[in-house]
Amino acid sequence: MTKIKCILEVDMKLCYCHSDKPFESCCEVYLSDSAIPVTAEQLMRSRYTAYAVHDVDYIMQTTHPATRKHYDPRSIKAWAESSIWQKLEVIGTRKGSASDTVGFVEFKAYYFDSVQQPQLHHEYSTFKKVDGTWFFVEGRVL
Ligand SMILES: [Zn+2]
Repeated sequence: MTKIKCILEVDMKLCYCHSDKPFESCCEVYLSDSAIPVTAEQLMRSRYTAYAVHDVDYIMQTTHPATRKHYDPRSIKAWAESSIWQKLEVIGTRKGSASDTVGFVEFKAYYFDSVQQPQLHHEYSTFKKVDGTWFFVEGRVL
């Protein structure tokens, strides 16, 4: 009998956003400010990851300055920390490519809430690009 052991797999942490890419070459580059998202979907994914790792600063800093005042960092922090983020599913995108200045992403985020009940957050988000940087503008819960 042969026992197969793959050290690479043990070491590689897949990204929280379920892209099947390693965390370090996916959302981590955005959360650590090493790069900025090129597409609205990349920004959306990195914001989901920010929820999973409780990076409230990233969530606030990637929210459009015009709508930022509607989002309270304390309640974002409370929601992020009291939930266990399970999975992200990007349902569809419209525009939001490198050459666009507006983009829309529909997604489903699966998580367990503070009383361990499975929850689904289904949202249609609007993104805008300002001076080459994508921002989250607002989300409509579906
Ligand atoms: Zn990612």
